[in-house]
Amino acid sequence: MTQFVLRDDDANATTPPARLERAYAPLLDAGFTINLSVIPDVALDTLAPDGARERFLCDHPASRQTVRLEYRHEISQWIREHSGQIAPLVHGLTHARVRSNTEFGALSRDEAGARMDRGRSILEAALGTRVDGFVAPWDELSKGSIEAAVSRFRVLSTSWLDRSKLAPKHWPAHYAERLGKRETLELESCRVLRHRGGPIGPSLDPSLVRATIDRLSSRAEVCVIVLHHWMFWTDDAPHPVVRALARALAGRQVRAMV
Ligand SMILES: [Zn+2]
Repeated sequence: MTQFVLRDDDANATTPPARLERAYAPLLDAGFTINLSVIPDVALDTLAPDGARERFLCDHPASRQTVRLEYRHEISQWIREHSGQIAPLVHGLTHARVRSNTEFGALSRDEAGARMDRGRSILEAALGTRVDGFVAPWDELSKGSIEAAVSRFRVLSTSWLDRSKLAPKHWPAHYAERLGKRETLELESCRVLRHRGGPIGPSLDPSLVRATIDRLSSRAEVCVIVLHHWMFWTDDAPHPVVRALARALAGRQVRAMV
């Protein structure tokens, strides 16, 4: 039986928790746990793939500053208060495009490790809990970044894993995973979870959500469903796609990845 994981990316110090809670009300009301991938020290000038300012930045003018998540921030308080249903992950450090247009896609192991350690300590101080999973911004990881992540975290969630990004000692695990398309493999003492893209967005026809979930999870031991709350922000009722997702997951095994 496939285990499903809900992963939401990009919460940060500027995120209004009330909007996030409204967007995901159907999932939270159904009792599902959500892994919230949180940016520890968000850059206020980070750009989306389309060149526009990232849409997860709220109520702060663009600048070269960063905003570090602190214990006093509303979103920190909300995560702490929902510790039974919201499980945080480290989402980069600043989500800035520091090299080759990504944050972790072109860093050495030492460079990546330093950013991961800093990000983790910021989150753990703000959220008052251990944070033992990592998600790279835009799922972009260099070989050194993968090495740094698997030597530090219990779980790494990412998309495509290429053999060229892995040390030769990890190739057998990679080949075994590809044979079965299980989407999960053990590297060091870290469980690496692959996902098959993020098609669950506001432009998806709600009537296709169930079939999409079936396609994403076919043969998979673990199916990570990647969501972005800021795509589903509405001023009134929750988005039809989120409601359809809650219905499609009813009766399935949904758990936190860590
Ligand atoms: Zn992100």
